[in-house]
Amino acid sequence: MDFSVSDEHKGLIDTARRFTKERIIPVAAECDRESRFPMDVFKAAWELGLVNPSVPEEYGGAGLGELENSLITEQLAYGCTGIQTSITANQLALTPIRLAGNDAQKKKYLGLLTSEPIMASYATSEPGAGSDVAGMTTKFKKVGDDFVLNGQKCWITNATYARFYVVFATSDAAQRHKGIGAFIVDRDSEGLKVGKKEDKLGQRASDTAVLHLDDVVVKKENVLAAEGQGFKLAMETFNQTRPDIAAGATGLMQRALDEAVAYAKERKTFGVPIGQHQLVAAMLAEMAIKIEATRLLYMKAGWNLDNGVRDPMTSSIAKAFGADSAMQTAVDAVQVLGGNGYTKEYPVEKLMRDAKVLQIYEGTSQIQRIVIAKQLMSG
Ligand SMILES: Cc1cc2nc3c(=O)[nH]c(=O)nc-3n(C[C@H](O)[C@H](O)[C@H](O)COP(=O)(O)OP(=O)(O)OC[C@H]3O[C@@H](n4cnc5c(N)ncnc54)[C@H](O)[C@@H]3O)c2cc1C
Repeated sequence: MDFSVSDEHKGLIDTARRFTKERIIPVAAECDRESRFPMDVFKAAWELGLVNPSVPEEYGGAGLGELENSLITEQLAYGCTGIQTSITANQLALTPIRLAGNDAQKKKYLGLLTSEPIMASYATSEPGAGSDVAGMTTKFKKVGDDFVLNGQKCWITNATYARFYVVFATSDAAQRHKGIGAFIVDRDSEGLKVGKKEDKLGQRASDTAVLHLDDVVVKKENVLAAEGQGFKLAMETFNQTRPDIAAGATGLMQRALDEAVAYAKERKTFGVPIGQHQLVAAMLAEMAIKIEATRLLYMKAGWNLDNGVRDPMTSSIAKAFGADSAMQTAVDAVQVLGGNGYTKEYPVEKLMRDAKVLQIYEGTSQIQRIVIAKQLMSG
């Protein structure tokens, strides 16, 4: 067992940290206010190799592991989890291609991601099916050699900007998970339309939009998972990407703690800095406990993935603990800053709004507990 950080990891962390300080923090509040994603920041992150880090070298990527991917995510999230979510969302779209794509699909689509600063989206959710992935109704029908997709996907990160989408659909909704397949759908496909952009509580810099599929023809070359294989692929994708949500939660919590400690040293009540009041100090200590524990959890989950240890339970524990901890930590940071914490003069109210969605996307905190409990009950 070795808890040390290698020189390579240090280099990666330093690069991402510097990028966050120079490019994300200065624009975060404005992008939040305007609900605007800073595409120039995405392009700069791509140039630096901070986007799509896990694309294998043979497809033009850096071939880094999930642990390295999450080390980057933690640093970006320190600046703004909205901007970070949109920068790292390509991972969600490229993971099913990495897991299930054939060589031609990997060459084409992973190659696209590494040759140009473009975005891709992952689409399982629908108005009537979020947690209940097997309840999706977006339909695919085989017509000759091709497939025709009809339906609506919603809450799709980066849908407005994506060059292609990994879309999950079913041959027959009544078949539930047995009917689901997955398809790579190009942005310029006839019948594909990006709909309403969501006006969100937090992570407002991240684009989230509806996707309409109206008789969209997908060539057989773009079938990623055949009927009956899509559900398993979606679940395995989440297993691989959930630790990264915990990494984002760690970055957000570290920011909350840094802001709270700085304030607690300056602000005086009853003649002493508030950090000297035990009840305030306890909140700070609790934040540090949650950060350390979440960081270790995402690192273990990432290490598992990189070393071929299949352990969805740790991925879900990391995601659930990290998301719930981030929410509590952000609320406490607002509390430490008192009235100032409740205003937009300080960044902690944004952290509180941003943290909430960590408990919702990529499986809610309740769904993580169901995944964990199922494994416990199945022995
Ligand atoms: C900002 C944002 C970005 C997103 N990005 C994407 C994306 O890129 N791609 C994508 O496909 N989706 C995306 N989503 C969708 C997200 O994954 C879903 O919102 C999430 O899975 C929850 O589904 P739902 O909203 O339908 O809630 P529901 O499933 O309706 O759940 C509502 C509540 O009921 C609880 N609940 C549901 N079932 C159970 C159960 N069996 N036991 C106990 N409690 C239960 C849930 O935990 C939740 O509290 C995004 C969502 C948001 C908000």
